[in-house]
Amino acid sequence: MVVNYPSSPTYFILLLITITRLISTVGNKTEHLHNNFNLSPDLISRHNLNDDPESLESASRDFGNLVHHLPRAVLRPRSHYDIASLVKASYEGPVPFTISVKGQGHSTRGQAMTRGGVVVDMRALREEISKNKNKKNIRVIRREEGYYGDVGGEALWADVLQEAAEIGVAPASWTDYLYLTVGGTLSNGGISGQSFKYGPQISIVNEMDVITGKGEVVTCSSHTNSELFHGVLGGLGQFGIITRARIALHPAPKMVKWEIQGLVEGLSYMPGFYYEKNVSYVEFLNRVRSGELKLQSEGLWDVPHPWLNLFIPKSQIMDFDLGVFKNIIFKRNITTGPVLIYPMDRSKWDNRMSASIPEEDIFYTVGFLHSSGFDNWKAFDAQNKEILKFCNDAGIKVKQYLPHYTTQEDWTKHFGPNKWRTFLERKLQFDPRMILSPGQRIFNND
Ligand SMILES: Cc1cc2nc3c(=O)[nH]c(=O)nc-3n(C[C@H](O)[C@H](O)[C@H](O)COP(=O)(O)OP(=O)(O)OC[C@H]3O[C@@H](n4cnc5c(N)ncnc54)[C@H](O)[C@@H]3O)c2cc1C
Repeated sequence: MVVNYPSSPTYFILLLITITRLISTVGNKTEHLHNNFNLSPDLISRHNLNDDPESLESASRDFGNLVHHLPRAVLRPRSHYDIASLVKASYEGPVPFTISVKGQGHSTRGQAMTRGGVVVDMRALREEISKNKNKKNIRVIRREEGYYGDVGGEALWADVLQEAAEIGVAPASWTDYLYLTVGGTLSNGGISGQSFKYGPQISIVNEMDVITGKGEVVTCSSHTNSELFHGVLGGLGQFGIITRARIALHPAPKMVKWEIQGLVEGLSYMPGFYYEKNVSYVEFLNRVRSGELKLQSEGLWDVPHPWLNLFIPKSQIMDFDLGVFKNIIFKRNITTGPVLIYPMDRSKWDNRMSASIPEEDIFYTVGFLHSSGFDNWKAFDAQNKEILKFCNDAGIKVKQYLPHYTTQEDWTKHFGPNKWRTFLERKLQFDPRMILSPGQRIFNND
């Protein structure tokens, strides 16, 4: 479904006025809903929603442990149909209620939450599928042109890897950590140390099934329903719920020589940091898991995580180094947790997709992956704010990855005028009642 929009300035002015009105109206409406928690008991029972304190509390948590919004109810879907019918009920009801899909809840700022609406807990769907021998949410398919995988939006990348590796194939692009859902990373980008070569995960998707904000199930690709396809990829959950993604698969290496000799040649480095390992491809891709399990066993996984992930244009990386690393990070001297730095190649990203990246051909990802105590996370938050302020004042055109903004002005700046206009148009087209993903705080004052 390709929609051609008129392109006169008057059209856009009218569109913007309509959208501005719609946003403020819907903002008030959701405020009102949140205050009143007015999902009817009838609707709760018709859709088998859970509203016991434990379910609500669990849906108000994420990896960040900084934001906690209680929903009115939680859907534990047994099928994609359950999700579609809930969205339809909201869309067709007299007053819509907001719906947030929670993949693994590995967001850090409440992006998968909704205050007073319904959280769809994708873990329940995964469990339902794993219990039932006749159901599968990861299928590897061989065609003349090669392999691909049809994977559920609720599936974990770790499971996709396991299933594909059994046949000797794998997706080309990964995240560094695999216990994230397909729907969750495709809503952002999905990046890792290999992205400069293979692109982000959103670039390896051929087709998707999506439940739009109208409750319709739509199959989309870059040829069919392309506005929805491009909108959803990197779209922060705003246009639809991904229930299936078709991912390109390639023959996978069995072993990986995990070494950095080639990289450090000619550079000075601390010898203690040099290492070389021969590991299986699966072990290499799943390398972060052992660290997670260790932190979990020490009770250190559920602490606050005031993370900040940035994309920085290559031409400004030295200014960033001086202003941020030397003048903020080293001076404050509070950073705990890894700082990841990767190069990225813009040509591997498709600008028709919603993900917002710097304009330059090469940019860098810098991730400050802080863990903090419950009493000192504000110091890290203050450091993050200082970094963002410095970049803004110095004219360093950074983009946040896994963005977190609270004002329309900041979101407009994040996307830039053209992308923002497209984002608004797609929102009006696919989720006109602003039901989906309120925790991102783009259209809802959640
Ligand atoms: C330990 C850790 C390691 C990480 N490593 C990486 C990494 O290497 N690379 C990287 O790119 N990111 C990484 N991330 C970030 C991660 O990709 C994002 O936080 C992602 O959103 C988490 O996926 P999730 O399944 O937990 O999504 P959630 O946090 O549950 O949801 C995130 C957003 O996506 C929406 N959403 C979820 N599922 C769907 C769906 N099916 N359809 C539509 N919208 C949906 C939600 O409503 C929400 O707005 C990491 C995060 C953590 C905590």
